[in-house]
Order: sequence, then structure tokens, then C-alpha cells
Amino acid sequence: MTIPATQAAVIFEKSNGPLIYKTDWPVTQAKELKPGEALVKITHSGVCHTDLHALKGDWPLDTRLPLVGGHEGVGTIVAIGEGTTTNRKIGDRVGIKWLADSCLDCEVCRRGQEATCSNAVCSGFAVHGTFQQYAVSYVRHLTPIPAGLDPVQAGPILCAGVTVWKAIKQSNTNPGDYILISGAGGGLGHLALQYAAAIGLRPIAVDTGEEKRKLCMELGAEKFIDFRTSQDIKADIRAATDGLGPHAAVIASSSAAAYNDALEYLRNHGTLVAVGLPADSYIKANVFWTVFRALRIVGSYVGNRQDAIEALDFAARGKVKAIVKVQPLKSLAEVYEGMEKGTVSGRIVLETGA
Ligand SMILES: [Zn+2]
Ligand SMILES: [Zn+2]
Repeated sequence: MTIPATQAAVIFEKSNGPLIYKTDWPVTQAKELKPGEALVKITHSGVCHTDLHALKGDWPLDTRLPLVGGHEGVGTIVAIGEGTTTNRKIGDRVGIKWLADSCLDCEVCRRGQEATCSNAVCSGFAVHGTFQQYAVSYVRHLTPIPAGLDPVQAGPILCAGVTVWKAIKQSNTNPGDYILISGAGGGLGHLALQYAAAIGLRPIAVDTGEEKRKLCMELGAEKFIDFRTSQDIKADIRAATDGLGPHAAVIASSSAAAYNDALEYLRNHGTLVAVGLPADSYIKANVFWTVFRALRIVGSYVGNRQDAIEALDFAARGKVKAIVKVQPLKSLAEVYEGMEKGTVSGRIVLETGA
């Protein structure tokens, strides 16, 4: 396999700095790979809101600089570092997700909670990500892509899909239970609805507007509640769930109000799963009612290697389909602009041209 010396990539040199599209960004050569590393030829990469946060330096964590962002990459292994022990081989189709590596040896890793490993390494944040044609990643955390799954579909599943699938797994629900998805028409929410429906839950969608109502109903929502036109959102949610409230609520929207409402409308023994990240926000739980109604509040942060494989399997079986728009790699700056203005619907997947 011939590996070029240079490639196309989108980089930024400083936090909040401009995005620069380069066609002469160096490609790490096979001989330069360390044990445990693989070089992946990336054909497609989804764009996640986290990538925009990384560019803007929104979080109390420093990114590597200069940085190639991106963590929903799909491609083929073209080289593996000498001295690597792995079942993966050159030619395998793989995905690069947010969690590029973790130690696999600490307590949280042994329990399958890899995302919270204190040695976790994130793609497009601590190491160069997938907005380039050739990315170096850690072979033990690469996700095999099922045969026949369109790379355009696989991209968004590697982050958005894994995140909501994991959230649903943590919702403490059984088939036939009601699960409310807040932000159901968005990039995360529209996937959450489909995973929930696929495992026999009864999804209640909360979002706004006719377009999103139509989309949510098509994707398996049992009822749609418009938070803008509803006179009493909590009463409408209870009315949609036999008067008792849903068994769980997955908050995929970045709304602090959505979190605090959930603590009131949830059914007794209900679970609030926190996913969306409103800035500087708090969940204010009344201690008496939390105890007396036996409520659970769970934070859910991406997923582990197994969650990624499961999430992709639903997509490969046609149970979950991301709403995507494909654009060229060099259009990333415009994509971010659209995300900031809120004009992007569904997920954007970049074609690298590799
Ligand atoms: Zn992401
Ligand atoms: Zn670990």
C-alpha cells in the first residue's frame, strides 16, 4: 500500500483561531508508528459539536496545538506499528471515535468505564483527529465497521450514536416503558428515538416546530410535545404517559430547564440521564422528593468499545439511520458557522477525498 508524504487536512494553530485547509500536511509514515499505533486512511468524518468546543477552547481543558480536530472518522488501516500485538490487520475497515485510547488496566477500564480513565486520550483534542486523510490512532481502541455499512452512516454513529445508545442503556428501563427524549429532533435526539424504538421502549419526543414533529413521528416517537407551544409542558408529558410520567428521560438538549423539569415529571423510580451540556448549569434536586420518589440521576459520557460495536450493529441492521448531509473536507469552517447559527439539521459528514 503506498502512503503519500503529504495530505489534505484542516488545522487550527490557536484556540479560537481560524481554520486552515492544507494540502501539504505531513503523513506519518509506517516506520514512524510506535507499537500500539495504526495509520488509518480516512475517507469520511462526521462533525460533532464537541469539535466546535475544542476549536473555541470552551472547556477547562487544553487541546494540543496546532490541532487537527475530528472524532467520527471512518476508513481503512494502511499500516500498524512494528511490535504491535493485535487482531486488527491492514485493510480492515475501522472507525476512530472520541476515546482514542485508555489504559485498559485501571479500575474503571476493567469495569468497562473506559471514558473516565485518568489516562484517556481523546481524538481531535489531545491527539490529531479525523479531519485529515491519514490519521494515527491507537489500534486497541479502533472500532471495527460492520461489512456493508455505508461509511457516511457509520461516521455519526461513532460519537452521536454511541452516546445516545449508552444513555439508553443507563436509563434503567424495560421494553414497554416510556422514555422521554428531550431535543428529540436534533443530532443526538433523532438517533436516540430510533435506538429506543428498536429495543421496544415507547419514546416520547420533546422538541419544537412542525418539521421536527414530522421527523420524530417518522422515526418512531409515540407522541411529540412542542415545548414552545405547550401551555404546561410537565402536564402534557404526564398526560402522554398514562398520567404518571415517563420511566426515564434522556436529556439530549443543552437546556438547563429541561433537566429541572424532568425531576418533576418523571414517574416514581424514574431515571434522569444527563447527556446535553448547557453551559454553567446545575441540576437542582429536592432531597426529600428525590428520596421519597426514589429518583435516579445518572451522567452518561460517550461509551466503551463494546457500546460502539453495539451502536454500529443497529445501523448495519437498518434499525437506526442518521440524517446526514455530505460535504467536502475543506468546507469545515462553513459547517461550524452553520452550527453556531443553529442552521444545521441532522449531522454533517465530511468527505476527505482520500
Ligand atoms: Zn462527539
Ligand atoms: Zn484506564
